[in-house]
Amino acid sequence: MTDYAALLKESGLKATFQRMNILECIDVHGHISIDTIYEQVVKRHSSLSLATVYKNIILMVENGVLVEVPITGKKSKYELIKEDHIHLVCTECGEVEDKPMHAFTNGLFTSITEQEHFTLSKQQINLYGVCIHCQEAVA
Ligand SMILES: [Zn+2]
Ligand SMILES: [Zn+2]
Repeated sequence: MTDYAALLKESGLKATFQRMNILECIDVHGHISIDTIYEQVVKRHSSLSLATVYKNIILMVENGVLVEVPITGKKSKYELIKEDHIHLVCTECGEVEDKPMHAFTNGLFTSITEQEHFTLSKQQINLYGVCIHCQEAVA
């Protein structure tokens, strides 16, 4: 399990119980939308409002604790910051699967950005399509 308090402090944020709960919820689910996070945390803390959850998530994205994964035609999902990886995003069910980044992808990005004298600070590779379960559902 991740030390959420340390993660928040490293990123310059106070370790409030709301943030700790949100992070734990995201950690358990992997990739999750704000609505689902809210449904989960409100069970334990009924006084929490959707606006508070939303505000905290946006702040944690800004501070690099969380990463937003945009999903075409659906609400974004959020995940804890982790090693760079590739996402397979199903635009039917909204499932997001992590795939490891290969050495050659990293080499490709380095060569592109170096050629352009572009300082790379953040990268996210999302491949959008239809997952095997959704393909079977149609067939
Ligand atoms: Zn799917
Ligand atoms: Zn991911």
